[in-house]
Amino acid sequence: MPHRTHNFSAGPAALPLPVLESAQANLVNFAGSGMSLMEMSHRGPIYDEVHNQCIADLRTLLGISEDYDVLFMGGGARTQFALIPMNLLPAEQRAAYIDTGTWASGALREAGKVGHGELLWSSKESTYDHVPADTDWNLQGDECYLHYTSNNTIYGTQFNHVPETDGVDLICDMSSDILSRPVDVNRFALIYAGAQKNMGPAGVTLVIVRKDLLQRCSDTLPEVMNYRLVAAKNSMLNTPPVFPIYMVGLVARHLIELGGLEAVAANNRSKAGALYSAIDDSEGFYRGHSRENSRSEMNVTFRTQSAELDKLFVEEAAAAGLSGLKGHRSVGGLRASIYNAVPLDSVHTLVEFMGEFQRRHSEK
Ligand code: PMP
Repeated sequence: MPHRTHNFSAGPAALPLPVLESAQANLVNFAGSGMSLMEMSHRGPIYDEVHNQCIADLRTLLGISEDYDVLFMGGGARTQFALIPMNLLPAEQRAAYIDTGTWASGALREAGKVGHGELLWSSKESTYDHVPADTDWNLQGDECYLHYTSNNTIYGTQFNHVPETDGVDLICDMSSDILSRPVDVNRFALIYAGAQKNMGPAGVTLVIVRKDLLQRCSDTLPEVMNYRLVAAKNSMLNTPPVFPIYMVGLVARHLIELGGLEAVAANNRSKAGALYSAIDDSEGFYRGHSRENSRSEMNVTFRTQSAELDKLFVEEAAAAGLSGLKGHRSVGGLRASIYNAVPLDSVHTLVEFMGEFQRRHSEK
């Protein structure tokens, strides 16, 4: 077993060890070709198989029907903030946005540049500590789509339901919780996610788009930004990020072998449960950021009594082999990202460290 740090990084983040080992074993001579996958044409049969198998395995894992296209695009999730309104929001129409923090508000900002992106609901006033119930907002019914972020990576909040929109198309940024639990893709018009949390390395963004929406994509868009053209070329309009896509394929296969997303979700529930119990049982030494009904199973955000103690926590944790626990620079505090590939053992080690840190620092 190679030495592996307990990695709580928010992304790029931990990848499954068997996936890394498989990539390593095949790095130099891929499928007997005498070259790396990174050195061969993306138009050849070997890459073709990798590409299409990755799509097939994602379809299996997420239950994606033939009503949807599965696209791989560049530019990260942030590029999708702009591409979604550019492709799907005609000038005279409105789109509604739920603002649960940085990523959601960034998406709204981009929509505002293209057309009528409108704020439907925000938890900004309470430092983005919760997500809304469906009764907290009202759609008019003529919106082009409703956009939300299923998991806020920075504030550690997560929707535990899919919003009910009464027929308005639903678009979701699932960058930080895709593949962490089963999801009914049929409820969505479009789902997108950067790969670098639960799916693979940075460099590719997954877009799952209902085929009928593609008719809206205007020919005036640059070609590589037009979902309809990218879909028509099976994401090979230009050279796709071959290695990240290969890695996403390995992760997808690995998750299928683990028993699929039900099994993955059960594991994630145990990990998050252990960490939130450690916070709740600490008699106020640790305080969670998110309200209980909005707690994320991917990013657990909390703090100690002071910024100085938070800093010490991060330093002492790093010395004990626990990395990536500093909160996002915009909110401070602490954050443990416990994506799919973070082992339960790492979470137990963190819980133990938290108890021990509390004992040492509450005696003073
Ligand atoms: N959305 C969410 C929910 C994220 O967590 C992030 C990145 N952490 C982004 C969007 C932006 O992703 P990218 O850096 O791939 O553009």
